[in-house]
Amino acid sequence: MKDFYKHLLSDNSWLIKEQNWSQRNQGARETQFTLGNGYLGSRGILEEMPCDAYPGTYVAGVYDKIGAMVTELVNLPNPISFKISAQGEKFGIGAMDVLKHERIMDMQKGLLKRRTLFLNAKKERFDYQSLRFFSMHNPHIGIMQIYFTPLSNATNVVVENIIDTSITNKGVLTEGEKSHFELKKFTNLKNINYVCVETHDRKTQVGYASCLKVARGKRFFSANKKILHFKIKRGETLCFTKFFSIYTSRDVKTSALENECMESLRNAVDLRFNNLLKQHISAWQKKWLNADIILRPKTDLQKAIRFNIYHMLICGNETDKKVSIPARTLSGEGYRGHIFWDTEIFILPFFIYTDPMVACNMLYYRYYTLDAARDNAKKQGFKGALFPWESADTGEETTPEWHKDLDGSIVRIHTGEIQHHIVGDIAYATYQYYLATKDEDFMKKAGLEIIFESARFWASRVEYNKTRKTYHIKHVIGPDEFHINVNDNAYTNTIAKWNLTIAQRLYKENRIIMHYLFKKLVKKIKLSEEEISHWEKISKGLVILKNKNGNLIEAFEGYFKKKDFPIKELDKNFMPLLPKSVLVKDIGKTQFVKQADVVMLLHLFREFYSAKQKKENFSYYDKRTLHKSSLSPSIHAILGWETGNFDKAYRYFLYSLYVDLKNFYGNTADGIHAASLGGTWQVVVYGFAGMALSKEGLSFSPVLPTGIKLIKFKVKYKDYNITVSLREKTIELLPLSKHQTLKIKIYERMRKIPTNKRTVFLP
Ligand code: BGC
Repeated sequence: MKDFYKHLLSDNSWLIKEQNWSQRNQGARETQFTLGNGYLGSRGILEEMPCDAYPGTYVAGVYDKIGAMVTELVNLPNPISFKISAQGEKFGIGAMDVLKHERIMDMQKGLLKRRTLFLNAKKERFDYQSLRFFSMHNPHIGIMQIYFTPLSNATNVVVENIIDTSITNKGVLTEGEKSHFELKKFTNLKNINYVCVETHDRKTQVGYASCLKVARGKRFFSANKKILHFKIKRGETLCFTKFFSIYTSRDVKTSALENECMESLRNAVDLRFNNLLKQHISAWQKKWLNADIILRPKTDLQKAIRFNIYHMLICGNETDKKVSIPARTLSGEGYRGHIFWDTEIFILPFFIYTDPMVACNMLYYRYYTLDAARDNAKKQGFKGALFPWESADTGEETTPEWHKDLDGSIVRIHTGEIQHHIVGDIAYATYQYYLATKDEDFMKKAGLEIIFESARFWASRVEYNKTRKTYHIKHVIGPDEFHINVNDNAYTNTIAKWNLTIAQRLYKENRIIMHYLFKKLVKKIKLSEEEISHWEKISKGLVILKNKNGNLIEAFEGYFKKKDFPIKELDKNFMPLLPKSVLVKDIGKTQFVKQADVVMLLHLFREFYSAKQKKENFSYYDKRTLHKSSLSPSIHAILGWETGNFDKAYRYFLYSLYVDLKNFYGNTADGIHAASLGGTWQVVVYGFAGMALSKEGLSFSPVLPTGIKLIKFKVKYKDYNITVSLREKTIELLPLSKHQTLKIKIYERMRKIPTNKRTVFLP
């Protein structure tokens, strides 16, 4: 029996495979096989929806809430639903005998291919093949195709094809399942089904137009019913192609929604499957052009690194300035689709250097939520902008109040009230984007306002100690969420100090040029010279606690006095285990930290710390970090690498690399861990390649892992598009640009190299 899609597949280093069926892994697989195009994400369910399947269709920016519940990303109607039965028996992987089953996600082309050989109760065999994609070329279009062939006998077949509107969001804790929309319209006109739903609170309308084409031998016709009947001969193949288009009232006016869906669908049908596929593949080719990391020898690592990149590519949006990337991307409902610091600190760098347009949009999302952040600050009695710890569509604080702890107990959470470092994180990310792109337009229109309003927040947030003449930030949660309500968290204070400093500097630099947009901004937010000098005073007086020798940073006031247990046991992946003698509820009394906190500082502000400080701090905190967040291993990998702890760093890298491929945290079913994707990219680029960016420019000081013969990637930097090829004995740079030369630092030495040709350095 012919494999209809084999010829489409890329080489193995691009393929993620499922080679047998496991009910236990179903949820994780659905997440891993998510398809998307920045506009939407669609979980990789099987069309027939076996028991416990969790269909998920999420459109970026479509959030809603029910009554007083927390706002969340809406799980929209499922367009993938397609069921076949023969002689009363429904084809389904959990319910029938399966002689062979394989699914392959082709990451280079954004395709999900399936082939299953079913055996029914009468011991008759059926070949089932499918291919699915959500167009990267036109993000409103999705296609699903199925080839069905009875191999043993002639058979009567019933096909059920719908847009399933019975979809709900998962209930968190005691909420129960929630349907976030109601059906507004359903029509069937000239073989096109149109379904429109509307969300309860935001009243966002989402329209789906769909149609099904059937090919039987040389005949090709449209199916105009939900239920279709066929009598097919042994060996005869039926081919079903389902086209669908999706728009929301965020994209077009409500009154134009139906028309837009219909138009777009008709165009897609006219173009036909093969042309749509071609367009889709070539759009993916463009995506990978700058994004890919090539590793040699080609081992499983190559595939895994692409998996991490693939999942970032399917959630980066190049056109919408009002959406950003949730902590679990658009692949699941973990953290209710909320946007955290994960986005700016972990994922943004990947986009800054590979697709700055997406990075710019992600920052605009924060800009467009500035008013809500100002309100949030006001509500808490502060000035400036207090970005929410968890954000959705409006930028209001959406952190839930209750949460399941590590031991399963339900605990009150305070992150939404006091995890304020996010303000500095967003300012930091804004400046990083600017440093790498020199996008003056963005800075003048949005970036400066973010940075000034963030600085203003810190100035109102600090407390002054008159006796010691020092500034303090009290009652916060740092990145380490094991310690709640602490004073002078080193991470928070440092990022606040930096934020205040950079704001003054940018103010002073811009004051010289006095661009009319800057003038307008100063007037709009009523910024004065006195305020700027006040920021200067605070930034100088804000304390960072250290031990006696002045090298070891104290995570927060009183941290060193907490109970100290050395980590003795590691799990099979070399990750630390909490000693049995420590109860989860008492963890705050110990020096254990949940995730990179001081180590995160060493990473973000690498040029502030000496090699000795980095070594000492990494060594101290590494022994006390439990990595109970997927945000942690990558950062320890980078710092471990930089400080010469190569074996350990490499193990952290592997952990981060495989977080979702191996379901290390046991909750991949709830969606991809976005921060880990970006963190993994950072280990390769910032860690192994030693790339760093400062005001002086870009620098590289690579150290390749043993056994890796080549690391090759591209970075966009200002007007340059640089291909970096790192081999054991050479560093090769190929900067493409309209400029003649590029200034770049290699192992601490500044060089000026010609553009548009290769320059090779010896390490
Ligand atoms: C981590 C946070 C992170 C959040 C969302 C938490 O467990 O501690 O740092 O932002 O998950 O990924």
